[in-house]
Amino acid sequence: MARYKDEQCRICRREGQKLFLKGSRCYTDKCSIARRNYAPGQNGQKRKKLSEYGTQLREKQKTKSFYGVGEKQFRKYFDMASANRGKTGEVLLQILETRLDNVVYRLGYGASRAQARMLITHGAFEVNGKKVDIPSYLVKAGDIISVREIRKDNGFIKLNVEENSARPVPEWLQKDAQNLNGKVVRLPVREDVDIPVEEHLIVELYSK
Ligand code: SF4
Repeated sequence: MARYKDEQCRICRREGQKLFLKGSRCYTDKCSIARRNYAPGQNGQKRKKLSEYGTQLREKQKTKSFYGVGEKQFRKYFDMASANRGKTGEVLLQILETRLDNVVYRLGYGASRAQARMLITHGAFEVNGKKVDIPSYLVKAGDIISVREIRKDNGFIKLNVEENSARPVPEWLQKDAQNLNGKVVRLPVREDVDIPVEEHLIVELYSK
């Protein structure tokens, strides 16, 4: 994928919504959506009316960007959700929410999901006392996610704990900032998921 300055902000601007891809800047008035809420590029200010397929596709792309998941993995999650007896779109969001990188971000130990991924791959976290360095690891109800003892002095984590102390933690998680851990109280339900997405459009797209 081509790299360019403010890449994450361009994704938000293309979707016309804050996707919180950049950490603390997303919560300030420096956010590009607050300043330039139109698509990037020369014709960005002329938003085109999308076809039904285009709308469904954008919804999928937006969700992938929000969680930082590639196409192959996203499709795998969709297949897992389809095989489940629950509502496919809601189960899909539940699976995405329970990724370890998302949980670390939601607990405030990562400034963004991207940074949470980096910290996890560098071995900063454990689940139920065992090191887990796979960002896509799916947590379960009752799991305890902790910063590993040898990483408690990590500068990013220290800063995140300080800066994110006021960021709300979703009800399905319980944070213990003093001991640098968190618990999955229960699995998330649709109401817990704050991504501005119409998940039925993704289901329609994949059902074609
Ligand atoms: Fe950039 Fe974050 Fe604002 Fe998105 S939400 S435009 S990533 S600052």
